[in-house]
Amino acid sequence: MPLPSHLQALLEAGLLRRRQGYRGRFAPSPTGALHRGNLRTALLGWLHARLRGGEWLLRLDDLDTPRNRPGAEASILADLRWLGLDWDGPLLRQSQRRGLYGTVLSALRRQGLLYPCRCSRRLLADISAPHAALTVYPGTCRGRDGGWGPLQGRLPSWRLRLGPGVLRWLESYGLPGQLDGPSAVGDVVLRRADGFLAYHLATAVDELSLGISDVVRGCDLWSATGAQVAVMAALGADPPSYGHVPLWRDGQGRRLSKREGGEGLAAYRQRGLDAASVVGDLAASAGLVPAGGRLSAIELLQELGPCPERLDHLLGAPQA
Ligand code: GLU
Repeated sequence: MPLPSHLQALLEAGLLRRRQGYRGRFAPSPTGALHRGNLRTALLGWLHARLRGGEWLLRLDDLDTPRNRPGAEASILADLRWLGLDWDGPLLRQSQRRGLYGTVLSALRRQGLLYPCRCSRRLLADISAPHAALTVYPGTCRGRDGGWGPLQGRLPSWRLRLGPGVLRWLESYGLPGQLDGPSAVGDVVLRRADGFLAYHLATAVDELSLGISDVVRGCDLWSATGAQVAVMAALGADPPSYGHVPLWRDGQGRRLSKREGGEGLAAYRQRGLDAASVVGDLAASAGLVPAGGRLSAIELLQELGPCPERLDHLLGAPQA
């Protein structure tokens, strides 16, 4: 069964926009102030877009409302502005696009691509090997006719039925990505049992419908790409290109976290640093400029010059 025509038209318009030129995005969740790792990823994404004369959108991934923090949105916008990282078009919020995600979910369900799953987190923990965390769903509810309605007061989650095959995507800063669907990705949850629409569904729909050509984000999301590419494939679309950039870790090698208040602009400012010094520090940490320099985001863009490949080269893209 084909997708409803309005949805098909929306996806086609997105794919057309993608072919017309570079469009990137930065998509933080408003779970706290941006830490220096997020700031660096934002800077790299902005540079990647601007060096190619492209657009850079700002989207807030705010569907998981209990995790959102009051004030985080305002602080994210203020920090990007302070650093001179301007975005194109209006601020986008996933919470305002729920209708679209719900329509996609219903269309996939009508196509028979989803099934209801009654497995609780507890049950999944019990069936996984004692020392290995279960990362790929074993398909327990795949063949069951579990029904849609509540059972013992709980609604099912909805999973995408993933066919055999390898999911592939292009990487700007590394070898092309590939993950085997059944053994490395599994049947992804698209709507959670608590009724929340899943990040993978929303993100895949957004990249397609917004015409995103290039996603630059932290490399902790590399494996999440498999799930998002699977959703895009279910919608009959190829994925955008991805640039998964290295994470900036703390002195003990731990990843920084917004929720735990990893060091951000407030800490830089407390040390008396202005925006040019912070841009210099973020750029130096990625090996783009020597340490200790001061320059605005625009000056950095000019310094990296008219040759967009230079950023890819500095970040370690394989040479063709
Ligand atoms: N919202 C996710 C986060 O803040 C990132 C999403 C993405 O870039 O795809 O970690």
